[in-house]
Amino acid sequence: DLAAVSTEVGGAIRAVPDFPSPGIVFRDITPLLSDGPLLRTLVDALAATYSGTVDVVAGIESRGFLLAAPLATALGLGLVPIRKAGKLPPPVIAQPYELEYGSAVLELREGALAPGARVLLVDDVLATGGTVGAAADLVERAGGMVSAVCVLIELLDLGGRAALAGRRVDAVVAY
Ligand code: AMP
Repeated sequence: DLAAVSTEVGGAIRAVPDFPSPGIVFRDITPLLSDGPLLRTLVDALAATYSGTVDVVAGIESRGFLLAAPLATALGLGLVPIRKAGKLPPPVIAQPYELEYGSAVLELREGALAPGARVLLVDDVLATGGTVGAAADLVERAGGMVSAVCVLIELLDLGGRAALAGRRVDAVVAY
């Protein structure tokens, strides 16, 4: 289960103060990605958690892709990319959302999800929840159901779970 791998995974995530701007503590997952045995352990634990309960894995650009792809493969499921505006060819469904300064848009290929598909949403960090919340809305507008939101890291102070409005959220590590 995820609790069993939390300490080891947390030990492979680097905290970088004042990146990319002053006051931000950036959570760098590249040491974890570099550790082959630990990456395997993590992906196996995630696959065991969701096996038989989801139909497709949706990864959020860009670091979400790095976890969603091996997880989809381990589960024997397809991978659907949720991308930033303008990256996917048409037709797409677009979901605008608010950022701290300004706004952004996530997109999903029209027809990418079978009606009623049980979707596992994957990203690296849950901060304010704006990104994952918009991705969840997009999945539901596209006819899918969000079975669970899985993030590697949850930043508890930012209260991102509130943006997920009662959906299941699993975090491997929380700070
Ligand atoms: P949010 O929409 O506020 O939940 O922010 C989540 C997105 O921003 C995720 O896709 C992360 O990749 C990125 N992010 C936010 N805060 C951090 C952080 N402290 N370290 C690394 N990535 C972050």
